Amino acid sequence: METKFVSARLLSPISISAERQSQFSESLDYIPGSTIRGALAQRYLDLYGKDDFFDEIFINEDSRFSNLLPSLSSTQSPRILPLTAMTCKNFPGFSDHGVVDNLWVLSAQKFSLNSSDPLNPEVFSRQSFCDTFGCGKDRITWLGYWNGDTENPSYIPVPKIEIMHTGIDRQTGTVAEKILYSVEAIDPFSKVSESSLYFNGHFRLTEKGWEKLDKTIKQSPILFLGRGKTRGQGEIELDLSPASLEQDHVWEEWNHACGRTLQEITKQNHNGTYFSITLLSDAIMVDKFLRYTTTMDLPFVGSQLLVSILKQGFAFGWNQVHRLPKEDEKTISRSSVFLFHYPGQIDEIMGSLLDMQTNGIGLRRNEGFGQILINDPFHNSFCGIKEGNS
Ligand SMILES: [Zn+2]
Repeated sequence: METKFVSARLLSPISISAERQSQFSESLDYIPGSTIRGALAQRYLDLYGKDDFFDEIFINEDSRFSNLLPSLSSTQSPRILPLTAMTCKNFPGFSDHGVVDNLWVLSAQKFSLNSSDPLNPEVFSRQSFCDTFGCGKDRITWLGYWNGDTENPSYIPVPKIEIMHTGIDRQTGTVAEKILYSVEAIDPFSKVSESSLYFNGHFRLTEKGWEKLDKTIKQSPILFLGRGKTRGQGEIELDLSPASLEQDHVWEEWNHACGRTLQEITKQNHNGTYFSITLLSDAIMVDKFLRYTTTMDLPFVGSQLLVSILKQGFAFGWNQVHRLPKEDEKTISRSSVFLFHYPGQIDEIMGSLLDMQTNGIGLRRNEGFGQILINDPFHNSFCGIKEGNS
């Protein structure tokens, strides 16, 4: 399998509805993996029809089409903010009143519930209220995207506009009088970067699959996605490049920092290994009886779930081949975070965790569901607790 970096330059306003048949006109602020996969599959069928390569690329269980996230350049590797990211209600942002991450503090809070030794309440109030310049306002959950650069973090705003549409009279098939409606869309121009907005992510395919998809994309890099495709909306230009290698060595550092922070706050000893799992895309998790669940099965025994901060939702899908809607499925939403503790050393579970990160979790992974990030550096960089300073 080979992973490539994918960048889609937005050429016209794009509007992707969150639900199959919605009376609401909001647009998603990213391109779901299933949407880009569906559009590429349709393009492929138009060009070549259904052949062996089609199954190799689009049906193969090991293929991955990640969500494409808003980006300010064709090379940026954007990240979604985890549900534990908090910022000042009045002056939100990395460069304003700052950002903190609550994951480790929430887990320390849990330890303190099981302990006779109560925790310093100041630690928690510092996470809940903004302490920059004595501001004192609430800290609120901060949703959205950032550039993934812990040294030089920046938020990626998604510019939205409203587009007016005319209603169509069903009987005559012509413009209906006095019927106008507006639809939310993403502006292809970013005022922050003063250039096009991009959507970036990754695809992973077999070598044979890449041979054909590479050719397909080079031959016709322009695709139309979402609402108003026939009116020229949702135009993107795809570009592929080699993916940069992931850095796994930082996990060890992450684990130590987490243990030390918990020790600082709780004044208890913390041995073993800590690791977090953040959902980069919605995940469809089922138990062995195929019932939807919000728990996560790990490929090794002995670890304990310390905290989970999660949201639930539904997955709506469209089967491009059969031209039929797919059954709605319950999901755990992207941005949800789980923190685990394993009593042994990190080396014992490193391989399994890497496999999990590469392959994802749950059902319909080849459509973009169930992509995860182990030990998101965001938790480490913005935990808000300085060592020796609790
Ligand atoms: Zn503030």
